[in-house]
Amino acid sequence: MRIRIHRGAHEIGGNCIEVAADDGRRLVLDVGRPLSAGWDEVVGLPEVSGFATPDPSLLGVVISHPHLDHYGLVSQVAEKVPIYIGKEAAALLNAARFFSPVSGGFDPVGHLQHAQELTVGPFTITPHLNDHSAYDAYSLLIEADGRRLFYTGDIRAHGRKHKMFKALVKRPPADVNVLMMEGTHVRVGGAHDEATFETESKLEKRFVKLAKETEGAIVTFGSMQNIDRLVTVYRAAKRSGRVLIMDLYGATVAAATRSSIPQPGFKGLRVYVPLLQRIKVKEAAEFWRVQDIASCRVFPEELAADPGRFVFHVPSSTARELLKSEVLDASGVAVWSLWEGYRSTPSGKALEKLLADKGVELVSLHTSGHASVPDLKKLVEALDPDRVVPIHSEATDRFAELFPRVEPHTDRAWWAV
Ligand SMILES: [Zn+2]
Repeated sequence: MRIRIHRGAHEIGGNCIEVAADDGRRLVLDVGRPLSAGWDEVVGLPEVSGFATPDPSLLGVVISHPHLDHYGLVSQVAEKVPIYIGKEAAALLNAARFFSPVSGGFDPVGHLQHAQELTVGPFTITPHLNDHSAYDAYSLLIEADGRRLFYTGDIRAHGRKHKMFKALVKRPPADVNVLMMEGTHVRVGGAHDEATFETESKLEKRFVKLAKETEGAIVTFGSMQNIDRLVTVYRAAKRSGRVLIMDLYGATVAAATRSSIPQPGFKGLRVYVPLLQRIKVKEAAEFWRVQDIASCRVFPEELAADPGRFVFHVPSSTARELLKSEVLDASGVAVWSLWEGYRSTPSGKALEKLLADKGVELVSLHTSGHASVPDLKKLVEALDPDRVVPIHSEATDRFAELFPRVEPHTDRAWWAV
């Protein structure tokens, strides 16, 4: 089995890995959009035979998880190439598409399920459901020609599925030749080498404390596709005696997941439809979208009458109208529950100013979707691979300082597993 990383050997995101069996048949793991690319920038596909013009030796593309930096270029791949992804991950992305056109459009030929082996030509794929901020995310064990590659995808140990990480470390796959491991927190200069990250359950406690100390609304700006965070905010709302408010986008995505995830119909959960979403529904004449949530819908008048009853989990695009309708005022608090780096973007700065002008405090409550270096060390120790190949890091040249038997590779070069 041979491998080449097309993208991701020296950057966080944009992952694309081509795996070739000895007979020449190939699989691709992830076809991500680079995080460095601007939103309107056109990014070409990696040069994989079969992506643009038919090549029967390309057996398929396996998407580890529903984050753009891992699936964002799939829509450009020729339609006949078979796609594999988690069932719920595909459902989530397809549901999100109406509100977020970059998402969705998946019609996979096969689904990844925890510990369910998939045979694709000479390859055996064993998905390991993992702990990450993306929903239905997997690490992948790929076997062919008697060799074994374990690709972490994106992984952490401090989220709501931390038990999956513990289980992997306790009962790791045996005889792994190559561990291809993400290193988001392997940073230039070693800034995060010793850092550990707050767990989602500790974050939940901080949300509860904030809700108890705040008179007005708690308005959390987050990603509507971060289901771990939705669970954290919902649990915090319940524990502080408040009602969780989702927007229609978040409610639609949550409804596409499993029934244990907070969604319309849950006690203490209401749905608010912001103006932009009302317009979208009207223009598409898809009125069933609001009819479906009619029994738990909440209108601005009710929200403004007593904002202290509510905790919101909404996109930051709702800030302006929540301020205008006086649902969010100086008696409430806005919460930044996204990557801190987005706060310094032009739209992040504009939001900060908008809130400051109204005297609304903005606090950060967030934890990383990626493993700390100490947790990555535990993973390497447990899997005990022959070699560790870095990916998804800005400082792959630092792996050798932190982990044993590191073998870095550059983008595009083939090497043997
Ligand atoms: Zn990623």
